[in-house]
Amino acid sequence: MPLLLDPAGRRMRKLRLSLTDACQLRCFYCLPHTPRFLPHRDLLTPAELLPMVGRLVELGLDQVRITGGEPTVRPELLDIVRGLGRLPLERLGMTTNALRLEALLPALWRAGLRNVNISLDSLREEVYARITGGRRPEDVLRAALKARDMGFEVKLNTVLFRGLNQDEVVDFLRFSEREAIPVRFLELMRIGPAHREQRSLFIAASEVIEALRHAGETLRPLPGPPDATAFEYATAAGARVGFIASESQPFCAGCSRLRLSATGFLRACLMQEDGLALGGLPLEDYPAALRSVMARKPLDRLPHTEQLMNRIGG
Ligand code: SAM
Repeated sequence: MPLLLDPAGRRMRKLRLSLTDACQLRCFYCLPHTPRFLPHRDLLTPAELLPMVGRLVELGLDQVRITGGEPTVRPELLDIVRGLGRLPLERLGMTTNALRLEALLPALWRAGLRNVNISLDSLREEVYARITGGRRPEDVLRAALKARDMGFEVKLNTVLFRGLNQDEVVDFLRFSEREAIPVRFLELMRIGPAHREQRSLFIAASEVIEALRHAGETLRPLPGPPDATAFEYATAAGARVGFIASESQPFCAGCSRLRLSATGFLRACLMQEDGLALGGLPLEDYPAALRSVMARKPLDRLPHTEQLMNRIGG
């Protein structure tokens, strides 16, 4: 059996690579009330991390998305992206809150990054502050537009919450039409604090789609790859809108992702605590390590996890 094919026939291609668990935002659904971030000395150094990823790419992974925590708060971000940019990857991307992104864009482009997914849960300053504890969503939008203008592939990711930002769906659609930047709405997942405390805020993608159609929006389904996390539509005016319905319509059957935490812990599933520490493992033992991690990749969506998204790498 080819190494990166799991027992259920799913071919692993993508690595979500967390560079840190730290973040300058305090999104209530992602972080605990009083987060304690790992000391920098516990994180893999670029000299440790780059050979690990290089070996995983040699063994067949061909897409890397940097995440966290917030990857732009990692002091060695550019060194790491430069190293990753030298690997034979089909795609090198980053997920970011974009608060520090604008100034970094030219260096990131030179380092080989071509794709940014930007998290923005509200276009309104007051709602953005309530959800994230941060300010100035306009800085995030400015970075998104600049990235688009430079040639990066850009998408906005927005988690929807009942009674908080639900009424902004149409504003995001109009933004997408105006700026030719796709937007994707995420269902609130049962991870970390969102598992117990925040279920009343959950909105299913089907409810949002139904409301949009009811409001007269035409949503034409777009084809997507078999391992897509989002299903997408085009609106009549040309917006691209996607839904990542991980709770109501899980996509585990087509999942092609592995995750490496900032401390070097390899997991086959976001919802799973189980995994294997790669730190100190000789590179020739990676095939066996991969087989053992992939053999434990769940077939179906696990209902919830107490572990924190910022620790695993979202
Ligand atoms: N800091 C970066 C960012 O803001 O994009 C990367 C890490 S963040 C954990 C990645 C994504 O996970 C963000 O879009 C965030 O909204 C999302 N996220 C965190 N907790 C979530 C949850 N419980 N359900 C759904 N999405 C969640």
